Amino acid sequence: MKDVKLEDLPLREDLRGRTPYGAPQLDVPVRLNTNENPYPPPPELVADVTAAVEEVARQLHRYPDRDAVALREDLAAYISTSTGYPVTSANLWAANGSNEILQQILQAFGGPGRAAVGFEPSYSMHPIISAGTKTEWVPAPRRADFSLDAVQAVGIVRAKRPDVTFVTSPNNPTGQAIPLADLRVLIDAAPGIVVVDEAYAEFSAQPSAVSLLDDFGHKMVVCRTMSKAFAFAGGRLGYLIAAPAVVDALQLVRLPYHLSLLTQAAARAALRHAGATLASVAKLAAERDRVVESLAGMGYSPVHSDANFVLFGPFGPGAWQSYLDRGVLVRDVGIAGHLRVTIGTPDENDAFLAASKEIIAS
Ligand code: PMP
Repeated sequence: MKDVKLEDLPLREDLRGRTPYGAPQLDVPVRLNTNENPYPPPPELVADVTAAVEEVARQLHRYPDRDAVALREDLAAYISTSTGYPVTSANLWAANGSNEILQQILQAFGGPGRAAVGFEPSYSMHPIISAGTKTEWVPAPRRADFSLDAVQAVGIVRAKRPDVTFVTSPNNPTGQAIPLADLRVLIDAAPGIVVVDEAYAEFSAQPSAVSLLDDFGHKMVVCRTMSKAFAFAGGRLGYLIAAPAVVDALQLVRLPYHLSLLTQAAARAALRHAGATLASVAKLAAERDRVVESLAGMGYSPVHSDANFVLFGPFGPGAWQSYLDRGVLVRDVGIAGHLRVTIGTPDENDAFLAASKEIIAS
């Protein structure tokens, strides 16, 4: 085939020169760069997923339940129990990772002629999915310590009047959760839809924003994922909690049968083992606190984290490579002088801390 370059293609003008999302997938001994749960699924979960997939494999000639009702019922039960806020399947919507949920939100509530605000640094896919849906991206600042200044944020949404406002809590890549009272004033002031991205909620002691749906069901959604605390990143299952009308809106843009029979069955099986999987959350939170303390003891400045990762510095150039040279893959999230490390198993964290000690001494 003739060599065809990206520049040779009749690509949309606004996509030219952009770079795709690209956390490196490298085969190194200690991989602490994509905020996954380091604990593999327990054998009972693997057996249950296998049996569930075998069962539905007999029906693979048929399309799956387009509305994934049984899965949404299971997710509603999990959210009701874990947050104490009662929801039903009508409040739940699921997709292939919360990235797909975010894309559906922007397809329905963003798009050409519309704008989305996000408080940076935050999750890099928010602007990328905005670009993909031709939603204008309006970056807004955080404080120097990366926390969200609610008063400033209210001023920004009042001035910019975005159709969609992203708030990530706990925030990736910086780690802090946003107090519920701050979220309340921000959602109250926002003219459009507020997306509270709670991908790391299970790791945080802060309450979920779901209870705010009582007052703000017409203008907010809470996004969650099974990729982090649930140790199901490979299964690809994200979901949102919102007013039923929001779920109706997303059904206008979702592709029919987007969640395969295999995904629905595997996710339901994984949810049956939520107790065992989520037992890792407390271990990871304790390890996070140990890592933060150890880094501070070595002379680094770790940022307070309510999640399963820690942003820390200061570094000169070349630090990311220094870790890689020592067999440890961390994340350069593009914040000058900082790197982000995902909390791993105690052994992985020890390897990371040993490398950190060498690097600060070098
Ligand atoms: N939101 C945030 C804040 C994230 O960090 C991530 C994953 N890195 C996601 C959403 C997307 O996760 P997934 O598509 O795996 O559900």
